[in-house]
Amino acid sequence: MTTMPDSGQAAPMRTALSYVSPSGTSPWGTYLSQVDRVVPYLGPLARWAETLRRPKRALIVDVPIELDNGEITHFEGYRVQHNLSRGPGKGGVRYHPDVTLEEVMALSAWMTVKNAAVNLPYGGAKGGIRVDPKKLSLKELERVTRRYTSEIGLIIGPHQDIPAPDVNTNSQIMAWMMDTYSMNTGATATGVVTGKPVELGGSLGRVKATGRGVFVTGREALRRLKLPLEGARIAIQGFGNVGANAASMFAYHDAKVVAVQDHGGGVINNGGLDVAALTDHVARFGTVAGFKGGDALGLEEFWDVESDVLIPAALEGQITEARAKRLRTKIVLEAANGPTVPAADDILGQRGIVVLPDVICNAGGVIVSYFEWVQDFSSFFWSEDEINLRLDKILTGALSHIWSTAEKHNISLRTGAFTVACARILQARAERGLYP
Ligand code: NAD
Repeated sequence: MTTMPDSGQAAPMRTALSYVSPSGTSPWGTYLSQVDRVVPYLGPLARWAETLRRPKRALIVDVPIELDNGEITHFEGYRVQHNLSRGPGKGGVRYHPDVTLEEVMALSAWMTVKNAAVNLPYGGAKGGIRVDPKKLSLKELERVTRRYTSEIGLIIGPHQDIPAPDVNTNSQIMAWMMDTYSMNTGATATGVVTGKPVELGGSLGRVKATGRGVFVTGREALRRLKLPLEGARIAIQGFGNVGANAASMFAYHDAKVVAVQDHGGGVINNGGLDVAALTDHVARFGTVAGFKGGDALGLEEFWDVESDVLIPAALEGQITEARAKRLRTKIVLEAANGPTVPAADDILGQRGIVVLPDVICNAGGVIVSYFEWVQDFSSFFWSEDEINLRLDKILTGALSHIWSTAEKHNISLRTGAFTVACARILQARAERGLYP
């Protein structure tokens, strides 16, 4: 594995897709540039690479609902199946006022890569509705969800495409989706979505799975770099589902969570924050700001904190070029999706900072979603210990394969992960052949 950027690859000829912006800084542009970097390592499979640059199928749906006040309003929804070569589509559904088709395309493509990187028998898909759910009542939210599910019912199903929660969607929304699909098809189909409540065929361990996976990849990275886990200094941006669960796993294993930042502010304690007390504080006040077990930390100061492991677990695009030049860390664990902009990635590489890419680092969630789907099909449910053990085994094995691929080609772990994943996807494509 190299610490140099993976530069100098020839950009392949590309036919422009009419419905996406040509900008290299858009999520889809970022994805395309990641694909360009991997093509030189695909050998004869490179002949099929254009497959990766084109979503297989994209559905735009109108979602009209009656508001509680009697008005009719319309939202725009999407479901994109980027690639189905290795199995059914799999990926979350996002409710956000800024969701666009192009963003959903990129997210669906990253799901294709993530699922292949950890060798799950899935293609990649993603969905979204351009809506601000905070402005809807619970009943309106249910109507939006049910209408959207009916509209995309054309292409989803336990064997076709299996949605899951993402930003602003949760287990209740998955329960409504499962019920709507089941009502429309005339049979209860628990396997049509994952991330359901445990009473409806959800899996134990799903809620903590992504944070647990972040810890597992971090533990393995420290071990490979011969750095001790005990006493390792951890800085985390984002203390929601992923960040807080990762923090408590690191603390449990005697690492020191020294700094945490969320939307409301930051807190630092060089002796190690009490993660359980911080979790209670956030449950009461909604932010880490004001926590008495540490000192206040300014928004930009967070990026100067000295750490062994930095975990961006909030939003995309947080590690900019300017911040990449300042970071004082050894390992970046990409818990969020797309937290590092491509130019910053190169700077981190030049500075010898090891980046564990999102497609492996946050794959714990989709791995346990896969377990949920398998359990639903067999109607036989596993213990939480069994789930956690299997999750650990899959992630450790996947990271080992990606690490040795990166070392073999002298490339970054991100390009290594894309190489492993894209080779699997295109091998399946080549073996299936073109029809007709
Ligand atoms: P969440 O909503 O539970 O938590 C988000 C956290 O980010 C909160 O602590 C919030 O305060 C913080 N945050 C928001 N804006 C911020 C800002 N401007 N500056 C600093 N902090 C800010 O979300 P989550 O489920 O923990 O997801 C976090 C990231 O992980 C997202 O990128 C998501 O796509 C990714 N992810 C989540 C899962 C999962 O299973 N939940 C799986 C894969 C990837």
